[in-house]
Amino acid sequence: EAHLQKELFGHPIGLFILFLTEMWERFSYYGMRALLVLYMTTQTTGDGRGPGLAWSNQEALALYGWYTMLVYVMSIPGGMIADKILGQKKAVLVGAIILCLGHGVLVLTDTWAFYTGLALVILGVGLLKPNISTMVGGLYPEGDIRRDKGFSIFYIGINTGSLLATMVIGFVVVKWGWHAGFGLAGIAMLLGLVVYLWGQKYLTHVGNFEAPKPNEVDDSSYGRLFGDLLKSRTQLLVTALLVVLSIFGWFNLGWAFGLLFMFLTTIVALMMMIYKELSSRVDKDRFVVLLLSFIMVIIFWGAFEQAGGLMNLYTDAKTNRMLLGWEVPTVMFQSLNAGFIILFATLVAGLWAKRKLKGKEASSIFKMAVGIIIMGFGFLFMVFAAMEFEKSGSSSMIWLVMAYLFHTIGELCLSPVALSFITKLSPVKYASLMMGVYFAATGLGNKVAGIIGESASNLGEYTVFLGILIFTMLIGGIFILLLKPLQRLTHGAEDNEK
Ligand code: GLN
Repeated sequence: EAHLQKELFGHPIGLFILFLTEMWERFSYYGMRALLVLYMTTQTTGDGRGPGLAWSNQEALALYGWYTMLVYVMSIPGGMIADKILGQKKAVLVGAIILCLGHGVLVLTDTWAFYTGLALVILGVGLLKPNISTMVGGLYPEGDIRRDKGFSIFYIGINTGSLLATMVIGFVVVKWGWHAGFGLAGIAMLLGLVVYLWGQKYLTHVGNFEAPKPNEVDDSSYGRLFGDLLKSRTQLLVTALLVVLSIFGWFNLGWAFGLLFMFLTTIVALMMMIYKELSSRVDKDRFVVLLLSFIMVIIFWGAFEQAGGLMNLYTDAKTNRMLLGWEVPTVMFQSLNAGFIILFATLVAGLWAKRKLKGKEASSIFKMAVGIIIMGFGFLFMVFAAMEFEKSGSSSMIWLVMAYLFHTIGELCLSPVALSFITKLSPVKYASLMMGVYFAATGLGNKVAGIIGESASNLGEYTVFLGILIFTMLIGGIFILLLKPLQRLTHGAEDNEK
């Protein structure tokens, strides 16, 4: 393969095609996300930006929570479709087209257009996001030490898109109104689609659908897996128990909790079905360690995602944002994360690579645990902020900057590493599905973040920030203590990276 050899800065050229496609996709995603709550809560009489939907804060935040969760939960069907029907490469293409349509529809001002647009974006991201991530892994042969670094570069693309969008879209909205902002997201996605189509020649060898051979029984069809579930007494029992719990939750805790439990039930049942179908010990063990690492993922995002919620509100209401006689706008603090990523991504990846070459511990599980601890440590600064506020009625910006700095370094230890880890450990047949499950875990984390954030109105910020600090340290510590046995379960998936 000629294109397989072609490289740029020591990485396959395909990486940069995926980088640019994902950069524009994330531009559209984060640009639109930045507007969403504000658009929903603006009065119908409008302010300078034009009329909004005039919803209450609570209504808007509720829809926002479901939206940011569903966008990632849809990665599961998105991954399944890639594994079974389209292959990752075509799934990304279809997702990109649906996203262009979705953002396009949001340009219209009707109510139906608002909901249709959101639904299309959810479907589009579900098809695109997990599968483009899996394709990055596919660019590297097994045991290639560049893979982690490749994901770090890809992660810079994600955040460049997010940074550009959050810096530009506010101005567009002020000048031409909400729907122009949505339109800008659409144009960005169109650019992403064009880059992707143009770059197909560098992606010939990745993300292709591999149909089962004609005389081969496909023992991994979901119909068959489901049949096996019905035959296994333990699995059936666990599933039935979860279904009962979901129904109980639905009636006693409200439909929202019920729905959440049902998502969980479906995921657990699916995971049990796949576990049973895996034939070798190695595959089974790797699958288990992957699922265990997803616990860290949910907790990580549950804490980290305070950024857009509670920390955002804290910045707005309780922080002294005066800098040299100028009041720094609240939204600008949302760019810190992306900015820090771009500054530090290669540095962090480089440090890990060096450590590994020296033969020191640098397994993915280790990095992820360290990531949780560093991110959690960032909440210490929020605790200081809350203390200062209680004493003097306002707190310094520096606490927020420090908190976001530590959050970002933690994110760099965990998030790109987790993506890479999945592509190393997933059984090939389920590679895209497992990436989907990963993103669904981040989506559940987002929802958890919302629930924790809401509890601050009763508990107070100080308690919430301190609680997160202690809990994340504890979880990170536990995973570090369990490192050896967990490592054993990977059966050397990362031992011989060169
Ligand atoms: N910020 C990252 C992205 O947009 C991570 C999101 C996630 O894993 N849920 O890709």
